[in-house]
Amino acid sequence: MFASTQNLNHWRGFTPMADDEPIEIASASGCQLTTSDGRVLFDGVSNLWCNLHGHGHPDIDAAVRKQLDQVAHITTLGMSCETTNRLADELAEITPGDLRHTFFCSDGSAAVEAALKMAFQYWQQCDTPKPEKTKFLAMSGAYHGDTTGSVALGGIKYFHRLFGPILFEPVRGPLPCTFRLPAGVELNQAADHYAAKVEALLEQHHHSIAAVVMEPLVQGAAGMITHPDGFLAQVRALCDQYDVLLICDEVAVGFGRTGEMFACEHELVTPDILCLGKGLSGGYLPLAAAIARPKIFDAFLGPASESRQFFHGHTFGGNPLACAAALASLDLCRQTTWLDRVNALATRLGDGLVSGLYQHPHVADIRGRGLMVGIELMRCREAMEAFAPELRIGYRTTREAIDRGVWLRPLGDVVVVMPPPCSSDEEVENLVDVICQSVQAATRDAP
Ligand code: PMP
Repeated sequence: MFASTQNLNHWRGFTPMADDEPIEIASASGCQLTTSDGRVLFDGVSNLWCNLHGHGHPDIDAAVRKQLDQVAHITTLGMSCETTNRLADELAEITPGDLRHTFFCSDGSAAVEAALKMAFQYWQQCDTPKPEKTKFLAMSGAYHGDTTGSVALGGIKYFHRLFGPILFEPVRGPLPCTFRLPAGVELNQAADHYAAKVEALLEQHHHSIAAVVMEPLVQGAAGMITHPDGFLAQVRALCDQYDVLLICDEVAVGFGRTGEMFACEHELVTPDILCLGKGLSGGYLPLAAAIARPKIFDAFLGPASESRQFFHGHTFGGNPLACAAALASLDLCRQTTWLDRVNALATRLGDGLVSGLYQHPHVADIRGRGLMVGIELMRCREAMEAFAPELRIGYRTTREAIDRGVWLRPLGDVVVVMPPPCSSDEEVENLVDVICQSVQAATRDAP
């Protein structure tokens, strides 16, 4: 029925399997991907927002090989491995405030799932139990993954609405967006405006809310929605005021992407539970984590007879090969100049895109933090009129980019740009040129 050149035995994520032109990668080095038919593509979205130090980095490769000579997999149930323990120690050191106790998972969704259950179980058995706290407050446009619990938190109609009948209902907060501001709200009032909305919900529902769950600073999958400065810090203060936990999902924004090691650090916030994934292993191997403060962890301590342990555990969570990659990646992140380099590159990227595209009639917004950028395309930016969805302008733009040697993946009509922090200046300059040409080519004849 459909002409497809792809391997249908491999059912790929978020992919119309009957109508997709697959790009098969044979090898990769640094920021360059080589396809099976010999083309070379720049990895413009860090292989789905993961890669930090480049593909085939000698230090990470060596660490994984060394671990392979010792042991490839050890469960965390009833056992542990020195490599995994060492990573937990290092995470306790580098994460904000008193975050300390790492529960390992394999994917970001699973880390969020673990955080939800951790928060729920905490209120059942902390010193002053509040078993009625069983709900979660999540932002509009939220994306926290694809497992059922994380989908329940999700607020993106296109991804999430279908599954409504099998999901729990969160208390739904605002979309804390700086681009589409509500009528009468100026940018410098936006943080207060959105925080007041969160406060009204907490005032009404705090007795039943276990935790607020949010992506700090940037809601990636919603289309690189950037929050107003100060919103995160206000939410932290409100959580304290209303005795609600704060779960920050840094699966996308963690590990330098926003210009600080963790996005929460921009506003000096320590969440009660921090979720990490993607860049945790340098983008090499499946590894994620839910990291808790002692206040949370201590509620799970007691003699075995009391059954206070966390009733959750993933087969491959904390896999030693993935942890070895993560330790080597962290060593590279901690080199004194690494964050400076990320910020310098982010300035180069942002300045280049703004000077190349700001005047473009179909570019409605160029937004982001650090090396996370979204370019929103619209039919008419003055009237805020979107392109007809069937034109697939975002997708067309990324196909144009692929033809010019850059791999990008859009979110609707938002072109996501997230180069690996190890990119060279020349690579970022070429990326900017290709994006400008691709936007021009994709929108030239658009009605
Ligand atoms: N949280 C956020 C903020 C994400 O961006 C993602 C993935 N894009 C996830 C959770 C889910 O992570 P994973 O795909 O590794 O399950």
